[in-house]
Amino acid sequence: MEKKLGTICVQGGYTPKNGEPRQIPIIQSTTFKYDTSEDMGKLFDLEASGYFYTRLQNPTNDMVAARICALEGGSAAMLTSSGQAATFYSVFNIAECGDHVVASATIYGGSYNLFAVTMKKMGIEFTFVDPECSEEELNAAFRPNTKAVFGETIANPALTVLDIEKFAKAAHAHGVPLIIDNTFATPINCRPFEWGADIVTHSTTKYMDGHGSGVGGCIVDSGNFDWMAHADKFPGLTQPDDSYHGIVYAEKFGQGGAYITKATVQLMRDFGSIQSPQNAFILGLGLESLHVRMPKHCANGLAVAQFLESHPKVEKVNYCGLESSPYHERAQKYLPNGSCGVVSFEIKGGRPVAERFMKELKVAAIETHVADARTCCLHPASATHRQMNDQELIACGISAGLVRYSCGLEDADDLIADLKQALDKA
Ligand SMILES: *Cc1c(COP(=O)(O)O)cnc(C)c1O
Repeated sequence: MEKKLGTICVQGGYTPKNGEPRQIPIIQSTTFKYDTSEDMGKLFDLEASGYFYTRLQNPTNDMVAARICALEGGSAAMLTSSGQAATFYSVFNIAECGDHVVASATIYGGSYNLFAVTMKKMGIEFTFVDPECSEEELNAAFRPNTKAVFGETIANPALTVLDIEKFAKAAHAHGVPLIIDNTFATPINCRPFEWGADIVTHSTTKYMDGHGSGVGGCIVDSGNFDWMAHADKFPGLTQPDDSYHGIVYAEKFGQGGAYITKATVQLMRDFGSIQSPQNAFILGLGLESLHVRMPKHCANGLAVAQFLESHPKVEKVNYCGLESSPYHERAQKYLPNGSCGVVSFEIKGGRPVAERFMKELKVAAIETHVADARTCCLHPASATHRQMNDQELIACGISAGLVRYSCGLEDADDLIADLKQALDKA
């Protein structure tokens, strides 16, 4: 029987047998015991599935990954130590030196750095496209060596909403998968596979954990991308792997298992960005209330956005739940139940007024974080982007008076009263 999302949040990924622990157990063990060397040898040959060393796989992690996999409607999933590791693996699993990737220009700053600076040094080139470009412009960004397309459902911090279907269509027309970072929407508000995405990544550090407790990431495969149909583009999945006696992932593990198996037994083996089982357990706890928390984050987001829009000291509010948002119509399609709790706005008077406003906040705390139970707030011009002058800020779409405000789970009245007194004094 197919379960609804709330039931999966609470029970997904783990069904205890008679007399077993009700809660997902923390398997706090680096290694696993076998009776014979032959048993162990089968694991190393990928002839049998099982655990041998937590740098590659751990049962607690896999139960929590299975819960996220079910929430996204995927075929296989893995946890990583951070969202950054998930983003890196998701691309590096199918692109190597000499390859090319098309990415939306409005993505998380950490992803942008990873792609534009660090992966460039590894010989993988990225073309960043305006997510509002025409289909022709998007198609023109592809090259013969393009291996993937990357975008974010709701971009952090720009809060733009991606036309996932447009990006999926272009990716598939060029025989490559679409990878979507679904961190801000979570599967409660959007399931990118339903709109043609092939792989989904998460920073579970955000809403999934939801309590500011554990850094983590996740990669989910839809199982919908036919690697064999584009075998020449993806030799890593369709040609023998010498480090496993010539196994061909797409043959041995099928369309639904090849991508995550390869990322586990090659990338996790070699880079080791595993999430600790303790953190996976905390993530599992967070997931148990994801479907209850997201509507509250969204209701607070909308109430705060509406208040800010009506305030004379506020120039502009970015929140796709507002009817005035250029993304409102698209959000109705992709995010009909709400988007997220993150709102950004421009204060009139620029940098000095924004700095005074930040000092006056009492309920919201100044943090480099978002998507947490506790409301937090950031002034990029004096924090993450402080090395830039006002002109440089404008060039990257951030004004000196822009504030990012992430609504937690407090009472909306208290958030609004706090914003009001801080704006009055600013
Ligand atoms: C935070 C974030 C990341 C990076 O995740 P970490 O867990 O901090 O490594 C990636 N994508 C988005 C959208 C994020 O918000």
